[in-house]
Amino acid sequence: LGIATEGREFNDIAVEVGEACLALFSQQHGHIKFLERAPKKTFQRWADLGILPRGVDREVVEMMHRTTMGFDQDYKNIVLGSARCALADGWGGSMVSTGLSDALFGTPSPVTAEVDLGVLDEKRVNIVVNGHEPHVLDMIVRMSEDPAMIAKAKALGAEGINVVGMCCSGNEQLVRRGLNHAGNFVMADAAIITGIVDAIMVDVQCIMMGLSTISKCYHTKFVTTNYRCKVEGAEHVEFNGEHGAMETGKKLVELAIDNYKNRDKAKIKAPSKKEKMVGGFSHEAINYMLGGSFRGSYNPLNENIINGKIRGVVGVVGCNNPRVKHDWVHVELVKELLKNDILVVQTGCSALALAKLGFMQPEAAEKYCGPGLREVCAAVGIPPVLHSGACVDNSRILEAVCEMVAAGGLGNELADLPIAGAAPEYMSEKAIAIGHYFVASGALVAFGVTFPYTPNTKFADYIFNEIENDLGGKWAFEPDPYAMAKLIIDHIDKKREALGINVAKERVLFDMEARRQL
Ligand code: SF4
Repeated sequence: LGIATEGREFNDIAVEVGEACLALFSQQHGHIKFLERAPKKTFQRWADLGILPRGVDREVVEMMHRTTMGFDQDYKNIVLGSARCALADGWGGSMVSTGLSDALFGTPSPVTAEVDLGVLDEKRVNIVVNGHEPHVLDMIVRMSEDPAMIAKAKALGAEGINVVGMCCSGNEQLVRRGLNHAGNFVMADAAIITGIVDAIMVDVQCIMMGLSTISKCYHTKFVTTNYRCKVEGAEHVEFNGEHGAMETGKKLVELAIDNYKNRDKAKIKAPSKKEKMVGGFSHEAINYMLGGSFRGSYNPLNENIINGKIRGVVGVVGCNNPRVKHDWVHVELVKELLKNDILVVQTGCSALALAKLGFMQPEAAEKYCGPGLREVCAAVGIPPVLHSGACVDNSRILEAVCEMVAAGGLGNELADLPIAGAAPEYMSEKAIAIGHYFVASGALVAFGVTFPYTPNTKFADYIFNEIENDLGGKWAFEPDPYAMAKLIIDHIDKKREALGINVAKERVLFDMEARRQL
């Protein structure tokens, strides 16, 4: 960001960093600075196509304009314009928010937690927080640990206070502090009907429309906390991150404590199912796991890809789609990938689908992986499925794949890598932006369940095929998880072949004379 640090107060620097990051949204000229983290060849591809995003807000406003009636009528021009806008999301909005959240709340590193509805505790005051803003849940957790709050809960007959996450604000705290997690976004209703949720608090995005109505059938308080997102029938307690955050945090926790006495015993059905997991694999943590403090590096990962023990790396991310059996597409896809020695990195609700079934325990490697991946996971001590954060943290995966190119041996740009991305149960419109910034960065991106396109059009042919010549990546749509796994594996094999690492090379031992000649 070009900010001077020498001899300055920490807080002064922090304020300037924050302001410089916010300015990336409103800037009108040049390009978003963080794009320079990409390999030079990838950056040059964007520059040659004229799609380096200038500022986050500018690209969004321009695309809103270009897609109004009677404006841009060339499908390629719209797709490439959308790529510019999507790059602003991934390398701007997402990278900024993940970076600043890490600065404020800590960079994730491996941590244990429990997942599924069994994390709700009948004997304690249960608070479920659902949404995407890390600071709301962070403050609620802090205030729930206040001895005065715990004493208040105990005075009412509870054994303590139990704060758990739901969907992605929960993921933010799971990967940072090992906060237990109740489940992915369509499970919010299910949490309420246990009869032991004393309050469910929401901020922004992925709030099921029936929560207000269902809460009224039980004793649960349903509370909105963000002025941008109000729900009819909900109690609104505004959370302002800059002023009075502690007071509001206390108020929210007290509201749940006060409601504990209103539980209807006849309606309680406390679930017991939960699973242990290890999460917190930021790209920095992966670097450390592979090489330690003094020689942290992606070299061991690249070496294992080159020697074929790991065939490739796939980011399996995104939402649940209620049109299909819960979690099924995510789980079946990941099983196929692991069987074929493909390391899986996850974010969002997809990560929770796999965590609930034990795939995020190191022992899962023995059960689900092919021999190469199993050996690497055992040597490093990691699960074969790595949870790296919320669905707004996909820029962590961008940074990890940049590290892979920088470590060497796997080509010169992101499009050379044997990698892919998948959103097996696509649902939210923001997934299109996320998918498109991965396509624009050079990855194959496969979506499942549904996809907003018209088959047999020039547009379809472009995004599924020809776009690869322009951006290096391309889209795929495949509802069947086994067919999706096959097309991803075929793509990875094609990349391995282009890199010349598809066949095991004979090991040649050099004697001294041969070394001299070399
Ligand atoms: S992964 Fe999708 S469904 Fe889950 S919280 Fe994020 S946007 Fe919502």
